[in-house]
Amino acid sequence: MKQAQPAGAAAVAVERLLKTYQQDSGGAVRAVRGVDLSIRPGEFVAVTGPSGAGKSTLLHLLGGLVRPDSGTITLDGRRVDGLSEARWAVLRRRHIGIVFQLFNLISTLTVADNIELQGLLAGRSPRQVRAAREELLAELGLEGREESTPADLSGGERQRVALARALINQPSLLLADEPTGSLDSKGTREVLRLLARYHRRGQTILLVTHDASVAATADRVITLFDGEVVDDASFEDSPAHTAAAAHVVKLMG
Ligand code: ADP
Repeated sequence: MKQAQPAGAAAVAVERLLKTYQQDSGGAVRAVRGVDLSIRPGEFVAVTGPSGAGKSTLLHLLGGLVRPDSGTITLDGRRVDGLSEARWAVLRRRHIGIVFQLFNLISTLTVADNIELQGLLAGRSPRQVRAAREELLAELGLEGREESTPADLSGGERQRVALARALINQPSLLLADEPTGSLDSKGTREVLRLLARYHRRGQTILLVTHDASVAATADRVITLFDGEVVDDASFEDSPAHTAAAAHVVKLMG
């Protein structure tokens, strides 16, 4: 997708996106109600709001993990809302990295294999994948942990492994669903520092969090309430915000 990107295309563009869940009781929940959104390449956007606001549903829609009832989703200039399951799977492997609150690592695989598998599934050679994995583990402070299994690691370390797995194919979009939600303050600080570092290198990031202090580390904070965008505040290029975000990360320690 990176190769086919039209000049000036948004990294993510969403128009009139709608998602309703049918409940077993027969009722319906309108989780996302007509959301419009555009994210520029390289932006670091937090989506926040109370529990039940539709944050995770929005992230799942952008990752093709659930399907919209109506509306459009365009990634790097390409319409993706009508893709088949198989094409979404390919898109996710090659162009979208996702990290989840509970890490979703494969417990029977080593750290190295958890990360490398993602590269192999994307069709890269074992040699390339191994080199990329070694580089990521060094960057993420996980050298020497290659042969550990997820059970041997702290929560913060597991999330760093999940981040390495999400980044191994150099995705154009990184989706993070409450990535600090099960971490202590040290783990939270580590993960937020790493997200900020990859953002500085140009990574487009959409982070979902109910925690306002975590959201404050992004350049732009979109607030959802009852499935609708009720606020969209940009702080990019504001030195005061950059300083405040750095301060928040420090305070979390
Ligand atoms: P948030 O991430 O902001 O907490 P969610 O996107 O998880 O919000 O949920 C939005 C609404 O959709 C909530 O009312 C939730 O109960 C409902 N919901 C989410 N997932 C499902 C599902 N799989 N089936 C039925 N209802 C769901």
